[in-house]
Amino acid sequence: MKVGIIGLPQTGKKTLFQILTGNAALDPAKANKPVPGAADIMDSRFNTLVDMYQPKKQVRARLDLALLPRLEAETIAGGEIFRDIADMDAICHVIRAFEDDAVYHAQGSVNAWRDFENVNAELLMHDQIFAEKRIQRLADEVKKIKDEARQKELDLMQRIQAHLEQENPLRLMALSPDEDKMIRSYPFITRKKMVIAVNVAEEDLGNQDLLARFAPACQAQAIEVMLVSAKVEAEIALLDTASEKQEFLDALGIEETALEMLTRLCLRSLNLISFFTVGKDEVRQWLVRRESTAPRAAGVIHSDLERGFIRAEVFSYDDLIAFGSEAELKKAGRFYVEGKTYLVKDGDILNIRFSV
Ligand code: GDP
Repeated sequence: MKVGIIGLPQTGKKTLFQILTGNAALDPAKANKPVPGAADIMDSRFNTLVDMYQPKKQVRARLDLALLPRLEAETIAGGEIFRDIADMDAICHVIRAFEDDAVYHAQGSVNAWRDFENVNAELLMHDQIFAEKRIQRLADEVKKIKDEARQKELDLMQRIQAHLEQENPLRLMALSPDEDKMIRSYPFITRKKMVIAVNVAEEDLGNQDLLARFAPACQAQAIEVMLVSAKVEAEIALLDTASEKQEFLDALGIEETALEMLTRLCLRSLNLISFFTVGKDEVRQWLVRRESTAPRAAGVIHSDLERGFIRAEVFSYDDLIAFGSEAELKKAGRFYVEGKTYLVKDGDILNIRFSV
């Protein structure tokens, strides 16, 4: 699962990417190819578990990211940027809403809503062009030879085209599993999950009016949206200790840092949930697809655990907090032994029993 960070030049993409991944990234504009990185998932439940178990080792879950070349006339015309985006599972689009005379804007003025609409229009247009070409090709082919599979795809492509013409992204289109399979290998960009990060000035961090400007359109298009200040996040990242960071956040009235929110929204849009394994040796957070069975989740840890899965011992993070300890939640009957069909829930703490 990989999230690609896209946006116009000078919107704060690189700043955010660097803070998220700790990478001093190359300049993707110069390299002209995606810069990979991984972000630690910042989840307060993990910190609490580490405090409780005092393990020798602690491992956070990580999310793969890629900083993509900037969206500008050349990368759009050449089409490379779309090939890069097509490799991603989700897109995080960074939009500039901060004013700063020292930072130029390709359009000459700061207007987050305009940029949001323009970039979305480019992405939609890319998909329309692809569908159109594909339709031409398929129509030519079925004219020559009758072919049921091609005819089916042609029908689907025509429906896709009609959908796109209504300016609707493909993520809103309900497709059957068969249809989904038919187009899965095609580079449709608007089918990807999307998170919008509006990079605002510090004083606009809690600006509900600004968020409200985007909310209806984002909701209608199944896009997650959030405000972030790359500048504030960069300042937080420079602080050494957790208590210094907390003081800073308290002073600004920030409950959840933008990085926490951003990774949380990315996970949500990717349909990923977290589970934990705990003990004196190690506390670790893992990611798995929502609705995964216990053996599937075990397979995230190691394929041997999936293959030799016998049962899972399960309790929830919330119960652990509510009852204060494993012993207390066991007394309350909140410790469960589950089989192969158990569906793992967000915040489950698992111990997998398996045979080799
Ligand atoms: P990119 O081109 O989208 O990757 O943008 P960068 O992250 O390289 O940022 C472009 C310029 O904007 C740099 O000089 C940053 O220091 C500055 N910048 C980024 N985020 C902010 C912000 O939130 N506020 C202000 N004032 N400047 C920012």
